[in-house]
Amino acid sequence: MKTYYNGDADLDVLKDKTVAVIGYGSQGHAHALNLHESGVNVIVGLREDSSSWNDAEEAGLKVYETSEAAAKGDLVMILIPDQFQKAVYEESIEPNLEEGNALLFAHGFNIHFDQIVPPENIDVFMVAPKGPGHLVRRVFTEGSGVPCLFAIYQDASGTAKDTALAYAKGVGGTRAGVLETTFKEETETDLFGEQAVLCGGASELVATGFEVLVEAGYQPEIAYFECLHELKLIVDLMYEGGIAGMYYSVSDTAEYGGFSRGTRVIDKDTKKRMKNILEEVQNGDFAHEWINENKEGLPNLKKMRKDLSEHQIEKVGKELRSMMDWIEK
Ligand code: NDP
Ligand code: MG
Ligand code: MG
Repeated sequence: MKTYYNGDADLDVLKDKTVAVIGYGSQGHAHALNLHESGVNVIVGLREDSSSWNDAEEAGLKVYETSEAAAKGDLVMILIPDQFQKAVYEESIEPNLEEGNALLFAHGFNIHFDQIVPPENIDVFMVAPKGPGHLVRRVFTEGSGVPCLFAIYQDASGTAKDTALAYAKGVGGTRAGVLETTFKEETETDLFGEQAVLCGGASELVATGFEVLVEAGYQPEIAYFECLHELKLIVDLMYEGGIAGMYYSVSDTAEYGGFSRGTRVIDKDTKKRMKNILEEVQNGDFAHEWINENKEGLPNLKKMRKDLSEHQIEKVGKELRSMMDWIEK
């Protein structure tokens, strides 16, 4: 896979352009400030009563109401939560797009699932840092960058790739390395990863392990430490050295027990169900379910949040974490 670095990208591509960053949250503040410090002409677009308006101005950025920012921008990067992008795009951005502009995303959901259908005479691409916004910002100020993905959906100008790489350079991505993907690949792998492994899979693994110990009569506090608290240590080891690096660092007992029992917890049937989950992502069933859930006011999400808040692991965890002064509240 080709990786693009600083030498492959030219910030001069953006010299006479204005970049409008819509939203000033996790990703928005990092993109806007990094681009600004890279010498790019950046403005921020927000709704009038936005709670982020002052923050952006105090950081030295020019802030406009979303439609005005979209009109001023040659490049318009949408960095508000995905579920609100369609409405904001249709109301405030689309009417202000002109031929030759570029529309940018940091996640492919709305384009890939046809929630946003851009006009044909503009470039449409994605630049997605592979990390949360605060990391994208911090690492940049330390002189390095977070790796980015980019993807071209529509290349009306014939130069979308150069523009995408210049943008990635401006946020610091080419300092670390930038990889090319597609909207389809980024969206489908992102959804699958968070559902089957990162958010869904990991949480259920933790909660079920906790339940097994508590139901067997062990103290919930001890179960919490074993099944949830210590997970961070294991994940940190994997992050630094892969699965083998983690197994190298734990005891031989943990290594043998993990190898010989892990495959009994996650077996061929689990893999089959993961494949079903991937199919629902690929055929659009999940996207439609989620879009409807939003339209109906999130009834199922609210119910599941409530159920979790009543789970014993949450109650015990709250008490135990209050003993941990080093955790930011
Ligand atoms: P945030 O939730 O941090 O965005 C908050 C910003 O959006 C605020 O400026 C807020 O302003 C504004 N906003 C919220 N709701 C609305 C609304 N209804 N109308 C207008 N503005 C609104 O978003 P993220 O940074 O997490 O995500 C932005 C994009 O980046 C998404 O596409 C996401 O998938 C992608 N992404 C996110 C990553 C992350 O780590 N968070 C990683 C990679 C990609 P206000 O004060 O007005 O509410
Ligand atoms: Mg995601
Ligand atoms: Mg142990």
